[in-house]
Amino acid sequence: MFNLLKEPLRLFKVRIPVMMDDGKVHVFTGFRAQHNDAVGPTKGGVRFHPDVTEDEVKALSIWMTLKCGITDIPYGGGKGGIICDPRKMSFKELERLSRGYVRAISQVVGPSKDIPAPDVMTNSQIMAWMLDEYSRIREFDSPGFITGKPLVLGGSHGRETATAKGVSIMIQEALKKKNIAIHDAKVIIQGFGNAGSYLAKFMHQIGAKVVGISDVLGGLYDPNGLDIDFLIDRRDSFGTVTNLFKKTISNQELLEMDCDILVPAAIENQITVHNAEKIKASILVEAANGPTTLEATQILTDRGVLLIPDVLASAGGVIVSYFEWVQNNQGYYWSEKEVHEKLEDIMVRALDKIYQTHSSRGVNMRLAAYMMGVRKVAEAVKYRGWI
Ligand code: GLU
Repeated sequence: MFNLLKEPLRLFKVRIPVMMDDGKVHVFTGFRAQHNDAVGPTKGGVRFHPDVTEDEVKALSIWMTLKCGITDIPYGGGKGGIICDPRKMSFKELERLSRGYVRAISQVVGPSKDIPAPDVMTNSQIMAWMLDEYSRIREFDSPGFITGKPLVLGGSHGRETATAKGVSIMIQEALKKKNIAIHDAKVIIQGFGNAGSYLAKFMHQIGAKVVGISDVLGGLYDPNGLDIDFLIDRRDSFGTVTNLFKKTISNQELLEMDCDILVPAAIENQITVHNAEKIKASILVEAANGPTTLEATQILTDRGVLLIPDVLASAGGVIVSYFEWVQNNQGYYWSEKEVHEKLEDIMVRALDKIYQTHSSRGVNMRLAAYMMGVRKVAEAVKYRGWI
């Protein structure tokens, strides 16, 4: 079983020629990994980032299998990525790249095969271009091919804010377990993209004090609380805002500042053996995929930090993607309230199960989550007779 699950079943590497605005053709490299489809179609986002690698996409697809297993939604894990820097590309160049990627992978994806979604530096506009390209190739309307779409193209209420909503639900549960009142809670959020910025807004709305945020350039910290409305108003579409300030700190410094709750909401490998001892927070909720290494997880656990791992904490996005796909399949759309209630129900139930495994088996929260996540796919593999 380990031998089967340690790698994706399928991995596609594609080359995408794109006509740039200056008339020259640039050939981009993209990937799509389909980790395991024993439970159902594979599912996962597509990231646009200069540091995307084949190994990263493979690892992220495995994490998606675990996320779907933990939250009990009927998918296997998938993930895509394109090596590019969308911050340096025009709108038209991004459109041509998005369409080119879909042309390259159109044979291997589909509403009951593999369903893409947004991820780092991709958004509902990019999903809309991808959907349009897919519908043109297939010559029929197929909203369930992709999730994270604009509402008018079959998107779901609450999808845009889903990852942040899920993290916010997990923070409130963690505060209960630690007996901290929400009004006394100080929060630091690393990353001000889709997850980080909406989370800052939600935390501010429910009365927590957001004392630190950061973007790719650096961080801001104020023990009296930051002006979240101002920051959200002034951020650009990639979540950059610290360039407007003279006095900033580094991302690494931000992680070590005083707070109750630390939320890494950016990229991988931010909390390692080098800084795990210096983290002040008593609650760590991972909105990003893979922000804490395994060694750092154990150090934090031994220090009594309550860690809600990425495979659960960041699952709000894929859960509401599942709701979006269900709504597309049935052609009947739900209210935002309905989406939120169902999301909360799934996430709180999954947290309780992981917490029980963590206590009864004496393993850290990440291992408990992995144990739970792998169970469903392993069972499906056995029933299908693959092993
Ligand atoms: N990219 C998000 C994730 O890593 C969402 C995936 C999806 O909605 O399918 O979970």
